Amino acid sequence: MLLVCATGACREAGCGRDEDAVQAEDEAALDLASVAARAADERAEARRVAELAEAQARADAPIVAIDTHVDTTQRMLDDGDDPFSALEGGHLDVPRMRAGGLTAAFFSIYVRPSDYRGEAAWQRALALIGRVREVAEAHPEEASLCTDAPCVREAARDGKIAMLMGVEGAHALGTDDPDLVLERIRALHRLGCRYITITWSVDSPLGHSSSGSNPAAGLTSLGTRAVRLMNELGMIVDISHVSDQTFWDVMETTTRPVLASHSSARSLADHPRNMRDEMIRAVGENGGAVCVNFYTQFIDADYRGRRRAIEFRRRRAFEPLEAQYPNWVDRGQAAFELAQELDPDLDPPTLQTLVDHFEKVVALAGPGGACLGSDFDGVPELPVGLRDVSELGALKDALAARGLPVRPIFGENVLRVLEAQTAPVPSP
Ligand SMILES: [Zn+2]
Repeated sequence: MLLVCATGACREAGCGRDEDAVQAEDEAALDLASVAARAADERAEARRVAELAEAQARADAPIVAIDTHVDTTQRMLDDGDDPFSALEGGHLDVPRMRAGGLTAAFFSIYVRPSDYRGEAAWQRALALIGRVREVAEAHPEEASLCTDAPCVREAARDGKIAMLMGVEGAHALGTDDPDLVLERIRALHRLGCRYITITWSVDSPLGHSSSGSNPAAGLTSLGTRAVRLMNELGMIVDISHVSDQTFWDVMETTTRPVLASHSSARSLADHPRNMRDEMIRAVGENGGAVCVNFYTQFIDADYRGRRRAIEFRRRRAFEPLEAQYPNWVDRGQAAFELAQELDPDLDPPTLQTLVDHFEKVVALAGPGGACLGSDFDGVPELPVGLRDVSELGALKDALAARGLPVRPIFGENVLRVLEAQTAPVPSP
């Protein structure tokens, strides 16, 4: 009889069992093992089926398409325009958003510094916010005023338009008093704004602009406090418009992913408003995203030179447009068409030039790093093939044709950045 010691304890105790018993036990153990293996297989299969179902649900879910910067807000307040009806001219209204497949937009709270200063700037910002809220409330069946990603997804599912708000430039705070600045940032968050751009084309109490008094200067000490407060509140820090130094200072300070709400790539079009390759790469590493600006003169620097030259040389031909088109966006479009007529060699950028910028951002920041920051109604001309938001489908097709990740670029990347603002921060 073969004595088998199955365990160390057994060996020490000198116990043993006969072969048949061992075989029976082994078979039982094998049975148990195969039951366990089958169960594990079944769990894996269930997981695989669930994952497939989830992927299928995602693929079937309406595409969330979010533009992080539209300037339609000005006409909504100043002219009483309601974008839920078709609007005359301009780049965006809800019927055109639906035609182009845009389900969500950050309405820019932009205050022109030459028109509003100090307290008047703050009051103007509040009036713009009030107008966005009023429009959303007037259309409960069609609009959702959103401050988070689940709301934006739900709106897309329900066929509603998600309206979000971002403040363009901290000069809109109307003060440089540190306590009041911080108090007003809190107020903007309470009112539903989910990003603040540190600066616009002018310096702000928070930092220096790419086209301000000293582009070599960066974030101010108040700016550092503001970034920390925004991180704490769950408000995105927007680094469009800032000087390169302000950008790097923000990246040193922030504990959350940042957003460039409307910026293109400087290595493709040399303009200080655009971002250098190393900046775009750093945003990718930070988990943030760069939403590409559609403006012709930001995406093609050579064209910018040609376009300015023709308007300078033939200024008399352009002068009547001033009186003909009181809306400056429409005037811009008319000037764009006139410039093409006057100079057959003007060769304006097309949709493909814009796609080059998306391709560049994806190459530098990864597939999670690019998004849409059109600047609709905030710039006077758009690339050939993308005249307004109703033609956004053409951009989607052009991105897909280049093998670029459409769903992430159109919406998922921005939703991820938005979600990251309130996610727990891992301790260092
Ligand atoms: Zn801007």
